[in-house]
Amino acid sequence: MQIQENISLITFHTFKLPVNAQYFIKVDTLDVLKDALSFAKQNALRILVLGEGSNVIFCDNFPGLVIKIALQGQTLVAETEQYYQLKANAGENWHNLVCDCLRKNYFGLENLTLIPGTVGAAPVQNIGAYGVELADVFHSLTAVHRETLESIVFSKSDCQFGYRDSVFKQQLREQFVITSVTLNLYKDPVLETSYAGLNKKLRELNQTITPKLIFEVVSQLRQQKLPDPQVLANVGSFFKNPIISVEQFARLSVNYPDMSHFRGPSGQVKISAAWLIEKSGLKGYEKNHVSITKQHALVLANDGKATPKSLFEMIDYIQTTILEKFQISLEVEPFIYP
Ligand code: FAD
Ligand code: NAP
Repeated sequence: MQIQENISLITFHTFKLPVNAQYFIKVDTLDVLKDALSFAKQNALRILVLGEGSNVIFCDNFPGLVIKIALQGQTLVAETEQYYQLKANAGENWHNLVCDCLRKNYFGLENLTLIPGTVGAAPVQNIGAYGVELADVFHSLTAVHRETLESIVFSKSDCQFGYRDSVFKQQLREQFVITSVTLNLYKDPVLETSYAGLNKKLRELNQTITPKLIFEVVSQLRQQKLPDPQVLANVGSFFKNPIISVEQFARLSVNYPDMSHFRGPSGQVKISAAWLIEKSGLKGYEKNHVSITKQHALVLANDGKATPKSLFEMIDYIQTTILEKFQISLEVEPFIYP
């Protein structure tokens, strides 16, 4: 087992902050994973399980062991009349999996193209985009308990998937390492085209809709709207879309009749966080190497010299501005460490 000490995390997360891990290990087998978990337990170290770091930010150095998941491989485990059941190990790149599946005519992942990160992280926040979420194709996952090292299978209902949410963000947060995910992929195309932006583009194209066309259109939309983290350091959407009461929405609509909103859970209203930021005149604002990108108001970026301090000052500035203007608290979407 090769545990390294005092390792820079700058290349291991897409916001590229200059922070270090006290200890770091890349795990590519289950045995190495279990050895690493035992090492952390023996030395009473905090653990951070890291995929590709596309949904994490740091407020400081990480005082503990960072376990970078590099478990590779895919297996077709079963086939029914309706589905191919594919098991992918946690370190596989999500977008590569989407491309492989489309090539093999295993359908259902087309709308989820170009989401950065690993397969193992996908269930943590039930990744979703353009009207589809992981839960729609999910069968089960296997995870190792961080303390007991026992491997446990979680069914779909065990995962308690919600909107960008799962049991791994709630009751079981920081307790398991997901080692593989099994998906039910359709043999016949199931075309999900209801998402407004996607639907509009497909109607303009006026072509026969196929999974490949959806894949191409979603890829195009994403490339137009989102800065590539390889080029400009970012973590995608920085704030969650806030959910407010119908009463608060009614009060705000008097002054802001054009407020972008959708039906939220339990009869509440979901507001577009991007709209709130844009309406506050913050789009394009930058300070101390952190910017609210001109491309997308929900995406913050690091020009290469940002620090945890400058990022957290920007977060505070945005949250305070939105609170004062709309009486809405914006919640940060990526996980904050340590
Ligand atoms: P990391 O950032 O490394 O980890 C995220 C969290 O999951 C951490 O708490 C980590 O401890 C935990 N974790 C990671 N791997 C495991 C594991 N194997 N076992 C247990 N816990 C684990 N998300 C969407 O839902 N939809 C989008 O459309 C979308 N678009 C994005 C666009 C951009 C440009 C970027 C940068 C991000 C976007 N995201 C989106 C967020 C991100 O891609 C997803 O959350 C992704 O699943 C994170 O994967 P990761 O491997 O980078 O996870
Ligand atoms: P968009 O199409 O400009 O829409 C803005 C927001 O409105 C999105 O957050 C979306 O919520 C919401 N929305 C749109 N249509 C909706 C509907 N019919 N019902 C409920 N909510 C609706 O969004 P975008 O920023 O370009 O992103 C496109 C898709 O990619 C979205 O699904 C978004 O979640 C996803 N994405 C996610 C991240 C991330 O880091 N998490 C980053 C980039 C893109 P939803 O977010 O609930 O879809």
